[in-house]
Amino acid sequence: MINKKAEKMKGQEKWTMLLVDDMEINMAILENIFEEEFIIMKAGGGREALDILNSTKIDMVILDIVMPKMSGFDVLKIMKSDERLSAIPVVIATSDVEGNEEKALNLGADDFITKPYNPSIVYKRVENILEKHILERQKLQSALQESKAEYQSLADSVPGGISTWRVTDRLDVLYFNDGLCELLGLSREEFLESYMDDLSRLIYEEDRKYVMETLLSGNRQGDRVNMAHRIVRKDGQVRWVKLSAIHYKTEDGAPVYCAVDMDITESREYEILIEKHNQELQHMLEYDALTDVYNRYGFCSRTAQLLKDRPGESFVLMKIDIEQFKVINELYGVETGDRILRMIAGGLKQFVNGSGVLGRLEADHFVLCVPSDPGYISALRQFLQERVAKAGIPSQIRLFYGMYPINDAKTSVELMCDRCDLALKSIKGNYNKNYAVYDEKMHERVLLEQEMANDMEQALEEGQFQVYYQPVYNLETEQIASAEALVRWFHPKKGFISPGEFIPFFEKNGFIVKFDAYIREQVAKTLQELETGGKRRVPISVNISRLELYVPDFAKNLIDLLKKYQVPCSFMRLEITESAYTDNPVQLVQEVSSLQKAGFQILMDDFGSGYSSLNMLKEMPVDILKLDMKFLSGEDFYGRESNILSYIIQMTQSMGMETVAEGIETEAQARFLKRLACKYGQGYYYARPMPKEEFIRLLWDNGQAG
Ligand code: C2E
Ligand code: CA
Ligand code: CA
Repeated sequence: MINKKAEKMKGQEKWTMLLVDDMEINMAILENIFEEEFIIMKAGGGREALDILNSTKIDMVILDIVMPKMSGFDVLKIMKSDERLSAIPVVIATSDVEGNEEKALNLGADDFITKPYNPSIVYKRVENILEKHILERQKLQSALQESKAEYQSLADSVPGGISTWRVTDRLDVLYFNDGLCELLGLSREEFLESYMDDLSRLIYEEDRKYVMETLLSGNRQGDRVNMAHRIVRKDGQVRWVKLSAIHYKTEDGAPVYCAVDMDITESREYEILIEKHNQELQHMLEYDALTDVYNRYGFCSRTAQLLKDRPGESFVLMKIDIEQFKVINELYGVETGDRILRMIAGGLKQFVNGSGVLGRLEADHFVLCVPSDPGYISALRQFLQERVAKAGIPSQIRLFYGMYPINDAKTSVELMCDRCDLALKSIKGNYNKNYAVYDEKMHERVLLEQEMANDMEQALEEGQFQVYYQPVYNLETEQIASAEALVRWFHPKKGFISPGEFIPFFEKNGFIVKFDAYIREQVAKTLQELETGGKRRVPISVNISRLELYVPDFAKNLIDLLKKYQVPCSFMRLEITESAYTDNPVQLVQEVSSLQKAGFQILMDDFGSGYSSLNMLKEMPVDILKLDMKFLSGEDFYGRESNILSYIIQMTQSMGMETVAEGIETEAQARFLKRLACKYGQGYYYARPMPKEEFIRLLWDNGQAG
């Protein structure tokens, strides 16, 4: 019978009743009374009861007062103070009505029943309570519906659009009124069908980015947005609307706004708001949001204007690049990265202050148009360096400057920026130089690199690269002690291309890995040929690029290669240029040490060209030092430089290393080196790099002569 009424509210479902009592027998009696019409749940104590209430939907509770640990009153108190539970009807069960009754009703109980239970009374009381409860709920629901309808008709009757939407890359509509449809010139059905998922499609295209960005930038509850923007009505008419919105909650990480839109096309506010709109739009168009200096567009147009306005003055375009900015972001977080960018922008703004134009093109690239005055530029660099030194991060921030002296104001600013890029590129990764000025050769260089990139794969397949060998002599005996493999490119159209042209390029684009593997295979074949032909065999060294030392399995592949041609590792020597060691000493030392353990002899190439000190050498896995003769300028064999050379040779030999002097061009140089007790030498004076056949012949003749 109870359920007949309940059905009206709950469909066919049964109601759920929770019985709370520490005595199982009491619950069994109640269960017996109600089990036909209710789903019964039972709790043996207060805690358990609250757990069930919090996890299950309960329609009615019969609660015993006297229980250990937590009394029925305590449970009731908690229920009534909990918004989600306070509406559930509670009947108190007690054996002692006196005193308890008042307290129970005061605490908000709906009724009470006494033990021992009289089934018909208990049933009746529960029925009454539910009836009252059902009625209340019905009333509440119809009141709610009424107020919703009232609200809707109110919302529909005001002039203008009211809507709520979630902002992501779209405007996802959650609610809208008739006024909005009217504003947009749509029927309710058309709106529902086509624009619920993205209202932003109706914003005038030029304004869309600005509106969306503004909405997304207010990311705290309560943030308000007041702006004017245009919309396009269904009939194609463009109208100005004033949007007032408030960010009132966040849903799935996206702000939800409640908004009012008014058509202001014909109103007084129109002009003022549109003026503001235009200013903001203009600012957004020209300025960088992060640093508030000009963006690419702003910089280019202002610079063009400056050059036009001040034709008599000479300017230079300067691009500033932060070395390894990506790494700074990774190490210290994007926020720190942003802070550094703002710091640089602030510093530059302060320095330039009206004397030129400043902008940020993208990421970590700042660009300036400033007076072409060497004093000004060096002061600027120094000022900026001092400023970034105070960035408060452990890493040193290195800045690179690429410059283009403006000699033709008609050149587009974009092109000038590209030229600064070329200047920057020419010093990328350079340890000694952090600024470069553009010249025409850089442009030619770009064209050449383009051609090389197109041709390199095919050149490798067609055997256009040939390995030449340059002997290394024992200066005392004039016997050939070893050789260095040096590659030559014979291009079918361009003719001979020097490795100085293409090796650095291959290193930059990564092709060097494949390329050097090919060269080493050629050298391994030559070494095998020297063994099997019964000819003389000497170790041959190959040049290793630093990039290769980071290739996984580099050592293993090398060992496999030599196995394939049955050449002992000691016959292929590895030349690693000095500057590679300054890059990432720890990893490099590990990799090179393992190669050394495998039996390879390691040469440090171009020693003296970079920063290595003899001290550092002690920790490096190096067997042979190659000294660059560029060291010795001219033929002054008694000056300071020769003293240094003499000292280096003595030191290295005392450390158990050999020295090879390279680039010996004259007899005088050869004699001088002998006097310093340098053991080996290589250079045009003895022999130039030569093709394989010629080298094998020379090696043989030299062996016979010795
Ligand atoms: P490097 O390793 O310092 O090689 C020595 C360079 O000095 C070679 O230039 C050689 O021809 C040149 N040379 C030898 N004797 C004299 C001399 O008496 N006077 C003068 N002025 N120069 C002399 P090359 O062959 O043009 O090679 C240039 C650079 O290209 C090499 O410098 C090396 O770093 C790189 N390279 C050459 N072949 C390869 C290769 O197969 N793989 C890699 N990764 N790099 C290579
Ligand atoms: Ca070399
Ligand atoms: Ca060298």
